[in-house]
Amino acid sequence: MTRPVFRFAPSPNGRLHLGHAYSALLNDHMARRAGGRFLVRIEDIDPHRSKPEFTRGILEDLAWLGLRWEEPVRLQSRHLADYGRAVRGLRERGLVYPCFCSRGDIRRDAAALAGGPMPRDPDGSPLYPGTCRHGDPEEARARIAAGLVPAWRLDTARALAVAGGAPDWTAFDRGGEERRVPSRPGLWGDPVVARRDVPTSYHLSVVVDDAVQAVSHVVRGRDLESATDLHALLQRLLGLPAPRYHHHDLVLDPAGRKLAKSLGSVSLDDARRAGAHAAAIRRDLGFPA
Ligand code: GLU
Repeated sequence: MTRPVFRFAPSPNGRLHLGHAYSALLNDHMARRAGGRFLVRIEDIDPHRSKPEFTRGILEDLAWLGLRWEEPVRLQSRHLADYGRAVRGLRERGLVYPCFCSRGDIRRDAAALAGGPMPRDPDGSPLYPGTCRHGDPEEARARIAAGLVPAWRLDTARALAVAGGAPDWTAFDRGGEERRVPSRPGLWGDPVVARRDVPTSYHLSVVVDDAVQAVSHVVRGRDLESATDLHALLQRLLGLPAPRYHHHDLVLDPAGRKLAKSLGSVSLDDARRAGAHAAAIRRDLGFPA
């Protein structure tokens, strides 16, 4: 029997805080209970925000928490060719289109189209108004030949037609109970699957990697739940197996806000330097010390 595969997949744009610790410990805990494997993947595709020192620090933090994982750790930045192949496949099938819009263009066109409150995607970004969706392919080819690098956006309406509708996905709870969840990938508009500065995106890399690493159980924060709708669609389009998902509650700060590196929440590194013990952190988060 193949063993279930779980993974913790941090982005190295800062050190880990308690919210990450909870997610990593929950993955490990569920993997153990299921007799499964536990992997760590470093999602370092962002050339501006990812730093090798954060990757080193994150692995140090996880080891300090008492976690052990299988080696080698997959670093996404070393696998751009895998993502490139997936994007090429989507291009060849006419499921993505090149987009030359700047952020400013998008804001302007989205506001003009809306004529009221700006429609936003589940991440809070302005919904792409579709400016380049019906662009002249000849003109796009000429711009690319002249050295302009576009982003590639999913043509969601076409994608849904090809996929035969929005695919459901499977959620599992801590008791192992499963249920089918209907999805609404359309809430993302036409999302970017390959960025201008790096030839992939979070959404594309995550589905490719979960398949490459045979991940069967994705355990991650509730903030990523609506992204799963898009992931299910990409999996269907790319012919990839669909893992099961568990979206856990987020660890909140005393003011009830989501912990985030940007808010300066105490990192595990700071806590350790201030004399905290890993056993106490594990216990406070609800895991065996
Ligand atoms: N790299 C993502 C993050 O740090 C998590 C991706 C995932 O678990 O699917 O928010």
